[in-house]
Amino acid sequence: MMRRGIPVSPGVVVGTAYCIDQVFAPTTAECLSDGEIASELARYQAARHRVAGELHALQRKVSRQVGPDEAAIFAMHESILRDVAFTERVEQWISEERMPACAALRRLLEEYTHLFERTTDEYLRERVNDLRDVVVRLSAHLSEVLHPHDRQPLPQPLILVADELLPSQAVVLGDLEVQGIVTQAGSQTSHAAIIARSRGIPAVCGVSSILRHIHTGDPIIVDGRAGTVIIRPDAETTAAYRKLEREYLHLKDALAANRDVPAVTGDGIPLQLLANINSTADARAAEAMGASGVGLFRTEYLYLTHPSVPDEGEQLEAYQAVVDASPNRSVTIRTLDIGGDKTVPYLGVRHREANPFMGWRSIRLSFEHPDFFAAQIRAILAAAAYAAKKGGEVRILFPMISNLEEIRRVRAMVRRARRDLAQRGLEVPATPLGMMIEVPAAAVSIDTLLPFVDFVSIGSNDLVQYLMAADRDNPKVSHLCQPLAPAVLRVLHHVITACLESNTPVTLCGEMAGHPRAFLLLLGMGLRSFSMSPAWISSIKNLAARVTIPQAREIFERAMKLKTTGRVRRFLGKRLAEIAPDLAMMEVD
Ligand code: PEP
Ligand code: MG
Repeated sequence: MMRRGIPVSPGVVVGTAYCIDQVFAPTTAECLSDGEIASELARYQAARHRVAGELHALQRKVSRQVGPDEAAIFAMHESILRDVAFTERVEQWISEERMPACAALRRLLEEYTHLFERTTDEYLRERVNDLRDVVVRLSAHLSEVLHPHDRQPLPQPLILVADELLPSQAVVLGDLEVQGIVTQAGSQTSHAAIIARSRGIPAVCGVSSILRHIHTGDPIIVDGRAGTVIIRPDAETTAAYRKLEREYLHLKDALAANRDVPAVTGDGIPLQLLANINSTADARAAEAMGASGVGLFRTEYLYLTHPSVPDEGEQLEAYQAVVDASPNRSVTIRTLDIGGDKTVPYLGVRHREANPFMGWRSIRLSFEHPDFFAAQIRAILAAAAYAAKKGGEVRILFPMISNLEEIRRVRAMVRRARRDLAQRGLEVPATPLGMMIEVPAAAVSIDTLLPFVDFVSIGSNDLVQYLMAADRDNPKVSHLCQPLAPAVLRVLHHVITACLESNTPVTLCGEMAGHPRAFLLLLGMGLRSFSMSPAWISSIKNLAARVTIPQAREIFERAMKLKTTGRVRRFLGKRLAEIAPDLAMMEVD
């Protein structure tokens, strides 16, 4: 059976499905034996105690660092955890129906979700969300403790099939050898996609209701380039895809050999190929793949994966570790970009907004928590002082800037943070301050903003979704959310030209920077700095060496005359096939 989704990370893998849901329970739960019931109850109790302690600590820490109102949510979660009916039902299912604890928790969540599915009462909907948080927290603990059912060896190579991969799950799954990812939700720029690409794992997102058609242990093929998933393939199909899988691995190895070669075009123009990272592990991957620095460190993963909330000292430690692991100790650190699709409960973003991506997210949210924001700015500046001492450089980047007032405000905050650090005896060297161009208003009026920043980073993932009014995570509108749309090309050209004319360094750090087709076009527009998932660096370096600037300019000029996304894509695909036919395998359709 073949299913189609959105291709998000290239490569082909033939393996065995491992289905998980939000609750970490394998979707087909086994029955406990008589002897296992008592230990499963004890495991559940131990997890409850740990979660209670965790929630308690969270309340105190968030209250201190952010404020008591923001901490209240954890008191609510603690009361759910202590609810007698909740625990009785879970224990009853474990002992009477022999369900593993994770499966019982999932059943409870399903029952409540079903019960309140149709309610329009915002309060009740929020309570189901709270219940989900508690259940996810509990099951994360349960899956850490050795589970009797986990003693069976996991299928290898393991292809994760999930509804959506949350950052917290990605951390727990970090130790598993995952060789492919398939999700029901998500799209090119969702977490699963970003994680998959940063690790070079073939992935397909947006495969609707696949969890209904597949079980753990089923043979499965993932073609991350075409966006197809084949469930229980026949022998002939398996053999054909195994051949493709070998070719892909071979190409990857061949490309990786260029890690120490400088990034230059065919006519010798030097380029900056930087990496987008979420963690120290990604920074190491960036170094291993031959990036010349980190163009985007998404700090939100530090918050999303922290057991509570990282304080200033913990942040500084994390940033220093990233600096140490990064190529040339050169890192652009972006301040918190939470909200939209990424949320942490303590920043008050849980209240459902009608349009979360257009609402209270990113820098708008940071401004609402000035102390919290100031602590992050201080930690980044202190990391800049650290990097400078070691011969590197940290730049500070502010996401989702909409207008000049916001730039003035962050500049004032940076000045203040420098003064505070100086008072503590830490002199911070000049640290370049940059803005992300993601909001169409900022892109259109970029000339008014450029005099106030040291550099620009184009966040095309968001810029495209806002420009096209098409949610980047909604598979239903993914045909509109296209970086190669003529409207997008015009805006990108406008922004890049304005930066070049004012001599403002500009990088593009959206996913399109690593797509061979889009790379040709951006190069033709005059862009010379690209930040992408580490996994893309080697193929883009290889492509760059095979194209000259006049060639890229001609490609860009012709593409600008085309009036539909489809035509642009086909035209670029054709030119790419002429320049580097072997690289087509690294492109997602
Ligand atoms: C972007 O929007 O292009 C970007 C790089 O930021 P993020 O994907 O983290 O929103
Ligand atoms: Mg963005």
